Amino acid sequence: MPLSLRTLRDLVLAGDPGCLCDPELFTGPAGVEAEDEPPADRAARIAVAREVCASCPVRWPCLVYALRTRPAAGVWAGFTSDEIGALVAAANRPARPRRYTALRPVSADAPAAAAVREVA
Ligand code: SF4
Repeated sequence: MPLSLRTLRDLVLAGDPGCLCDPELFTGPAGVEAEDEPPADRAARIAVAREVCASCPVRWPCLVYALRTRPAAGVWAGFTSDEIGALVAAANRPARPRRYTALRPVSADAPAAAAVREVA
Protein backbone atom coordinates (compact mmCIF):
# COMPACT_ATOMS: atom_id res chain seq x y z
CA MET A 1 0.00 0.00 0.00
CA PRO A 2 1.51 3.35 -0.99
CA LEU A 3 2.25 5.88 1.69
CA SER A 4 -0.21 8.76 1.93
CA LEU A 5 0.90 12.24 0.97
CA ARG A 6 0.51 13.26 4.60
CA THR A 7 2.82 10.46 5.72
CA LEU A 8 5.37 11.37 3.08
CA ARG A 9 5.22 15.02 4.10
CA ASP A 10 5.58 14.09 7.77
CA LEU A 11 8.59 11.90 6.96
CA VAL A 12 10.23 14.77 5.11
CA LEU A 13 9.56 17.30 7.84
CA ALA A 14 10.76 14.89 10.53
CA GLY A 15 14.11 14.71 8.76
CA ASP A 16 14.68 18.43 9.30
CA PRO A 17 15.81 18.89 5.69
CA GLY A 18 18.14 21.67 4.65
CA CYS A 19 15.56 23.26 2.38
CA LEU A 20 13.64 24.46 5.44
CA CYS A 21 16.58 26.66 6.40
CA ASP A 22 16.72 28.48 3.06
CA PRO A 23 13.51 27.98 1.06
CA GLU A 24 14.44 30.63 -1.49
CA LEU A 25 17.40 28.52 -2.55
CA PHE A 26 14.87 25.95 -3.73
CA THR A 27 12.08 28.19 -4.98
CA GLY A 28 13.86 31.30 -6.16
CA PRO A 29 14.12 34.72 -4.61
CA ALA A 30 10.97 35.97 -2.92
CA GLY A 31 9.16 38.67 -4.83
CA VAL A 32 10.93 37.85 -8.10
CA GLU A 33 9.00 36.14 -10.88
CA ALA A 34 10.73 33.04 -12.21
CA GLU A 35 11.21 34.61 -15.64
CA ASP A 36 12.86 37.64 -14.05
CA GLU A 37 15.58 35.66 -12.28
CA PRO A 38 18.78 35.96 -14.35
CA PRO A 39 19.55 32.59 -15.97
CA ALA A 40 23.07 32.43 -14.53
CA ASP A 41 21.76 33.17 -11.04
CA ARG A 42 19.05 30.56 -11.44
CA ALA A 43 21.52 27.92 -12.64
CA ALA A 44 23.88 28.63 -9.75
CA ARG A 45 21.02 28.57 -7.23
CA ILE A 46 19.70 25.25 -8.56
CA ALA A 47 23.18 23.72 -8.51
CA VAL A 48 23.57 24.57 -4.84
CA ALA A 49 20.07 23.30 -4.08
CA ARG A 50 20.93 20.02 -5.80
CA GLU A 51 23.99 19.71 -3.58
CA VAL A 52 21.86 20.15 -0.49
CA CYS A 53 19.42 17.52 -1.74
CA ALA A 54 22.22 15.10 -2.56
CA SER A 55 23.01 14.65 1.12
CA CYS A 56 19.47 15.01 2.43
CA PRO A 57 18.41 12.12 4.68
CA VAL A 58 14.82 12.30 3.47
CA ARG A 59 15.45 12.61 -0.24
CA TRP A 60 13.54 9.44 -1.05
CA PRO A 61 10.18 10.43 0.51
CA CYS A 62 10.70 13.92 -0.90
CA LEU A 63 11.08 12.49 -4.41
CA VAL A 64 8.03 10.26 -4.02
CA TYR A 65 6.02 13.23 -2.78
CA ALA A 66 7.13 15.36 -5.71
CA LEU A 67 6.42 12.62 -8.26
CA ARG A 68 2.91 12.29 -6.91
CA THR A 69 2.13 15.99 -6.52
CA ARG A 70 4.02 17.30 -9.58
CA PRO A 71 4.95 20.69 -8.14
CA ALA A 72 4.82 23.64 -10.52
CA ALA A 73 8.06 25.19 -9.30
CA GLY A 74 11.10 24.64 -7.16
CA VAL A 75 13.75 22.00 -6.64
CA TRP A 76 12.58 18.74 -5.10
CA ALA A 77 14.90 15.89 -4.20
CA GLY A 78 17.49 17.38 -6.53
CA PHE A 79 15.15 17.74 -9.51
CA THR A 80 13.54 20.84 -10.91
CA SER A 81 9.79 20.84 -11.33
CA ASP A 82 10.28 20.43 -15.09
CA GLU A 83 12.49 17.39 -14.49
CA ILE A 84 9.91 15.93 -12.11
CA GLY A 85 7.29 16.37 -14.83
CA ALA A 86 9.55 14.64 -17.35
CA LEU A 87 10.12 11.72 -14.98
CA VAL A 88 6.39 11.30 -14.46
CA ALA A 89 5.75 11.50 -18.21
CA ALA A 90 8.45 8.91 -18.90
CA ALA A 91 7.03 6.59 -16.25
CA ASN A 92 3.56 6.87 -17.75
CA ARG A 93 4.72 6.37 -21.34
CA PRO A 94 3.69 2.99 -22.71
CA ALA A 95 6.58 0.62 -23.09
CA ARG A 96 7.78 0.07 -26.63
CA PRO A 97 7.37 -3.46 -27.88
CA ARG A 98 10.58 -5.41 -27.58
CA ARG A 99 12.34 -6.92 -30.50
CA TYR A 100 13.24 -10.51 -30.10
CA THR A 101 15.80 -12.47 -31.96
CA ALA A 102 14.66 -15.91 -32.90
CA LEU A 103 17.10 -18.63 -33.79
CA ARG A 104 16.13 -21.15 -36.39
CA PRO A 105 17.82 -24.40 -37.05
CA VAL A 106 20.53 -24.03 -39.65
CA SER A 107 20.28 -26.31 -42.58
CA ALA A 108 23.30 -27.21 -44.55
CA ASP A 109 22.15 -25.30 -47.62
CA ALA A 110 20.99 -22.08 -45.86
CA PRO A 111 23.32 -19.10 -45.58
CA ALA A 112 24.49 -18.44 -42.02
CA ALA A 113 22.82 -15.03 -41.92
CA ALA A 114 19.45 -16.63 -42.51
CA ALA A 115 19.74 -18.50 -39.25
CA VAL A 116 18.92 -15.40 -37.29
CA ARG A 117 15.86 -13.36 -37.92
CA GLU A 118 14.30 -10.59 -35.97
CA VAL A 119 10.65 -10.59 -35.14
CA ALA A 120 8.70 -7.61 -33.93
S1 SF4 B 1 15.69 16.29 -0.84
FE1 SF4 B 1 16.04 18.51 -1.07
S2 SF4 B 1 14.01 19.40 -1.42
FE2 SF4 B 1 13.71 17.33 -0.58
S3 SF4 B 1 13.51 17.60 1.61
FE3 SF4 B 1 15.66 17.19 1.22
S4 SF4 B 1 16.65 19.20 0.97
FE4 SF4 B 1 14.41 19.49 0.80
